[in-house]
Amino acid sequence: MKTKVLWIQGLACNGNAHSFLTYSKLEQFLDDFEFIYHPIIDSKFTLSDIVNNFCECEILLIEGSIADDYKRSHKSIVEIIKLYAPHVKKIVTVGTCATFGGIFKDSPYENSSGFLYLEKEKIDKFLEYEDKVISVSGCPVHPEVLVNTLYMIKDKLELPIDTFHRPKEFFSFTVHNGCTRNEYFEYKVDNHNFGEKEGCMFYDHGCQAPFTNGSCNKILWNEVNSKTRVGQPCMGCTEPEFPRINLYETKKNMGIPQYLPFGVPKRAYLTLSGVAKAFKISRLEEELF
Ligand code: SF4
Ligand code: SF4
Repeated sequence: MKTKVLWIQGLACNGNAHSFLTYSKLEQFLDDFEFIYHPIIDSKFTLSDIVNNFCECEILLIEGSIADDYKRSHKSIVEIIKLYAPHVKKIVTVGTCATFGGIFKDSPYENSSGFLYLEKEKIDKFLEYEDKVISVSGCPVHPEVLVNTLYMIKDKLELPIDTFHRPKEFFSFTVHNGCTRNEYFEYKVDNHNFGEKEGCMFYDHGCQAPFTNGSCNKILWNEVNSKTRVGQPCMGCTEPEFPRINLYETKKNMGIPQYLPFGVPKRAYLTLSGVAKAFKISRLEEELF
């Protein structure tokens, strides 16, 4: 039997809805799930139907940040969520805006935030539904991570979550894990031009992957690629503070990056980087030029 799913949008750019459309096995997905409403895919009900009457569904997907005075089809987004949240089995926040507030947390709308969080801070807007929440952050959401999460819910599989309700299956390691540039990271060789195949982008170009949870280098986008593989730094889009300013710059204090890889104390970093710098691996340096 198809699982009924409702996809509603708060303050959003449609990016997650579009990203979802790139899922390579979408037809198969639609054999197993039915959208009672989706902003782009043909669905059973109109937006006006679903905001004015409760239409039966099992999973509520929320895209975009939620502001007290923001409306869809003349109804407050908060009221729409409260119409469905008590009845569904799970609430999935799709993308970073719905999870942490994202770029819209600075919008002129009132109290714009994620569903449970404003950046790292837990808020009480929908706290009573906390037990149902699964967060799939990302800007945009990784379609395969979203779909696999939905299948895990449908198949009633165990779904351990981290402190921000993100499934550990996809968020318990960093984007640095699986990057093809790890050897350059180890020996502190940065790359010098965007788009180059060689070099690590942590030391000068702002790559946030060592402190960003996600599976972009383990589950490739469109099954072929990731940002860091094409020579673009990870911007940390799955994390509460996204977006930071100066995305392509590594902020440093006395030559030491301000943000260090998760779990690496500053003292250990200094020791390791001192040792790594002592090596001049000509094979790695030469590949850059
Ligand atoms: S480019 Fe980024 S993800 Fe790749 S090795 Fe360097 S820090 Fe890690
Ligand atoms: S590589 Fe980084 S910025 Fe790009 S989608 Fe993955 S987590 Fe987001």
